[in-house]
Amino acid sequence: GEQPASRRGSGTEADLGQDRPHSARMYDYYLGGKTNYAVDREAAQAVIEVFPAIEVGARVNRAYMHRAAHYLARQGVCQFIDIGTGIPTAPNLHQIVQEVTPRATIVYADNDPIVLVYADELLDGAPEGRTCYVEADATQPGRVLEAIKATGTINFGRPVALSLHALLHFVPDDQDPYQIVSQLLEPLASGSYLSLTHCTGDFEPEAWAAIVDTYRQRGTPAQVRSRAEVLRFFDGLQLVDPGLVVAHRWRPEPGSGPALVSDGQVSLYAGVGRKP
Ligand code: SAH
Repeated sequence: GEQPASRRGSGTEADLGQDRPHSARMYDYYLGGKTNYAVDREAAQAVIEVFPAIEVGARVNRAYMHRAAHYLARQGVCQFIDIGTGIPTAPNLHQIVQEVTPRATIVYADNDPIVLVYADELLDGAPEGRTCYVEADATQPGRVLEAIKATGTINFGRPVALSLHALLHFVPDDQDPYQIVSQLLEPLASGSYLSLTHCTGDFEPEAWAAIVDTYRQRGTPAQVRSRAEVLRFFDGLQLVDPGLVVAHRWRPEPGSGPALVSDGQVSLYAGVGRKP
């Protein structure tokens, strides 16, 4: 059968975890990508059955990332740390920010070995800048920071934009996500930013309860959060205009993402906060 990850000749089926669906590959499927296995497509189809708009939400999430990355680059930020990067999907974050600032540095991090297999697509940045990839688990923020520091590419005396896009709904409360975010922000200089997106059950509670069950039953911990719960991730930061909103409402631009979508279809909060 098809073996998307075997093209490097590295890795066996077992070490890529084909025994169960992975969130990165399910998300790739929602986006119409090809880096997914039968087990991922079965799980993704189960989600699509209860909530067909998941594909819209995934595209809105990507479009938000483009606008937020552009915004941050235009604010003069030239160092980016992106945790929970996912399988490369062009344009990737570095392509967007290096369009504004070719010398920008981007450090990508994910804990899924399949992302590592494809990471060379994240490393083709502008010659003036730098991109690198670290394999790290967000639930161990101390180790994530050590791995990032070990790359030697980030100057912690200067502002950094930390992006956690579509990541924290895979970190349930028993893994202390608020502590994780504050630990990741702690070493960042004043003038740094946090950009995050997070799925919510606020608009379609029954569908989202079913989606969370679908992930959990197949081995991926998940938890959706209310607007107030997502807002707490920005404690101590100054939210930039328009605040925490459903992702298609964050500084919308013509042609950015699917048109004419509802809050319920998107079911994803997005926002950017600045560290004072
Ligand atoms: N940020 C991308 C991809 C989101 S999909 C985007 O918004 O388009 C969620 C990603 O988070 C997947 O690639 C998954 O492997 C990663 N992920 C989930 N839990 C993680 C953890 N504990 N540590 C690091 N990455 C994680």
